[in-house]
Amino acid sequence: MKTVIYVLSVCLSILLPSTVLALEIKGEWIQGGMVTGKTDPANNIEFLGRVVRINEQGIFVVGLSRDAKPSVQMTETFSDGSRRIHTFKVKQREYNEQRIEGVPKKTVDIPEEELPRIYKEIAQTKAARNIDSSLNSFLETFQWPAQGIITGIYGSRRFYNGKPGRPHYGIDIAAPQGSPVLAPSSGTITLVHKNMYFSGGTIIMDHGHGISSTFIHLHKAHVKEGDKVEQGQVIAEIGSTGRSTGPHLDWRMNWFDQRLDPQLLVDGLPTKNGDQ
Ligand SMILES: [Zn+2]
Repeated sequence: MKTVIYVLSVCLSILLPSTVLALEIKGEWIQGGMVTGKTDPANNIEFLGRVVRINEQGIFVVGLSRDAKPSVQMTETFSDGSRRIHTFKVKQREYNEQRIEGVPKKTVDIPEEELPRIYKEIAQTKAARNIDSSLNSFLETFQWPAQGIITGIYGSRRFYNGKPGRPHYGIDIAAPQGSPVLAPSSGTITLVHKNMYFSGGTIIMDHGHGISSTFIHLHKAHVKEGDKVEQGQVIAEIGSTGRSTGPHLDWRMNWFDQRLDPQLLVDGLPTKNGDQ
């Protein structure tokens, strides 16, 4: 009898290998893209050197930067310690060039005495983007945070007053000063700053699992740090603070330090009826 039970349990372990649940992936593997996945909640997922948070349903999210390599790997470790490495091909994009004239001189030629302030603000921004909360707001269908005309897109190589700068990581939506900025999904406000050196009035919002939105050049904030906001709630007013030449919203998204393209997450254009 003992032998029978033993044989049976061996058979079971063969019939039920730990890889019985296939990894499900949703979203496009593209530079700047956000990809969600589903695995057994007991498994472990590693991506870009980071152990990824998995919710009770087994859902997780990762993001790809502007310059993500043509191929990326994801390691799935099962509860028995075995692992499987998944390789994904990443669609490579071409970025345009954009020359911006007339931004404040001090935001292009940076006076040395401003550096401590700038470093402090970089650290504050980094800390807010590093938050790994259990919110699941990133699963909502994102909506445009403002209505207006797109004047800048993700990824462009940028020149400010003729001087090469960092690429543009956000999407610019031009609209009159004071126009409302709406939460693109629900979330928690993790940073409110009246006037950062480059980004002016700045708000960072957590959507969970390392996904965050950053809104910059704001005229006025209508929220404070720690506020929980609903999708569509007014969080700020559009302005032209920081390195800016006119009122617009610059909306950025991150998966931790990876810069995502917000436009990949919303449909149509930021106008009333979705076209221009
Ligand atoms: Zn911008």
